[in-house]
Amino acid sequence: MTGDGIRVVPSEGEPPVGSVRVRVASSGICGTDLHLVGLGPSAVILGHEFCGTLDDGTAVAVLPVVRCGTCDRCRAGQESQCRQALGSLYGIGLDGGLADETWIDPACAVRLPDGLPLDHANLVEPLAVGLHGVDRTGVAGGMRVLVIGDGPIGLCTVAAARYRGAEVDLEGRRPYRTDAGERLGASVTVGNDYDVVLDAAGTQESTARSVRLARPGGTVGILGTYWSPISLGLEFQMKELTLVPSFMYGHHHGVDEFAEGADILHSLPDLPDAVNTHRFGLDDAAEAFRVAADRDERPIKVVVRP
Ligand SMILES: [Zn+2]
Ligand SMILES: [Zn+2]
Repeated sequence: MTGDGIRVVPSEGEPPVGSVRVRVASSGICGTDLHLVGLGPSAVILGHEFCGTLDDGTAVAVLPVVRCGTCDRCRAGQESQCRQALGSLYGIGLDGGLADETWIDPACAVRLPDGLPLDHANLVEPLAVGLHGVDRTGVAGGMRVLVIGDGPIGLCTVAAARYRGAEVDLEGRRPYRTDAGERLGASVTVGNDYDVVLDAAGTQESTARSVRLARPGGTVGILGTYWSPISLGLEFQMKELTLVPSFMYGHHHGVDEFAEGADILHSLPDLPDAVNTHRFGLDDAAEAFRVAADRDERPIKVVVRP
């Protein structure tokens, strides 16, 4: 037990029927995890950004949601809108990846592209989050896109928007993070009149800024988690902006965005070095959480590796 209230515990219980074992290679700590830890003891093992190896040696990124596959939204390929999803998230409602091994539904084992190193495939999940926001807002080649927020989701959104061919600017507050954005192809010289602004911070201030910098008739996408309500005003209305919330990922034009997250990672060899800034062993998980929450440590993505 540590002062942060994070413990390393032996696993208990039988694996769920029909599940497969994943020996975890890496598991990223997300802002959501920091938020959950702040709420008090978790009933499950945290970690929803993880990858590892199946018993047959297959390298996989783990889709952290067990999709029902049968509701109307799943059948439409919009699995992020699944009517039964929220109880079936690894690391939130079910035991997740901050462990040396865990058991998952076989449908959640997403095979990595040949030649993609397993080590950094914890980034597939946040890349899929970024790609979903990019796809939901219709980002396409040649568009001028601004990403607001320089955390891991902001940086993964930069990567995804570049992957779709957009011109991307990044607005952030911390130079060590905006430098990483530049490595991913963003300009940090911010203008105005953007076709699409992607708010990866999810605060009142960032949403107001998004409305300010979008062109009339443009689109504002919300990728950052709204932990508090926000308000919109007259400028939003007079510009006739389209506000597009984005949550997790599903299919876009029939292609699984989570699997495409692995393709983005494969296409950007600089990305792991730019984003995975800190690594800890599982026994040091409490320190990993401390560093992830401490701006003075200059974290972007803190990764735990068993
Ligand atoms: Zn997350
Ligand atoms: Zn469903």
